[in-house]
Amino acid sequence: MLSIPITISSETARHVLWHYGAKGGYQPGTFTQRLMAAIDTADVVNTARLRVAFPELVDAMSLAGSSQEGIARLQEAGGITATPIRCTRCQGEDGPFTDDCLCEPCARPMPLDGVV
Ligand SMILES: [Zn+2]
Repeated sequence: MLSIPITISSETARHVLWHYGAKGGYQPGTFTQRLMAAIDTADVVNTARLRVAFPELVDAMSLAGSSQEGIARLQEAGGITATPIRCTRCQGEDGPFTDDCLCEPCARPMPLDGVV
């Protein structure tokens, strides 16, 4: 698995988020855009070469490309609040949530507008 002993600046995090179309991203300059496209399409050998020159960007891209958690970590690095957890039933953002991602009212067997 990917080890993550890297420090990613908030600027780089936001550029990579933009590349992956994730929340909180912002568009970098043309060079960085093309560099990210190159990293995205590079094979293992070329990725290693690019990493020598652009370690932060390559690591941030591997992080984002590896999992949703990676995206969330970049959002954290970029100072962006991750997408809030939503109740799978009522789409509410008010926690706490159960392990099934239901808010407390939905987790109880009563109607949404039920009177207590
Ligand atoms: Zn709910």
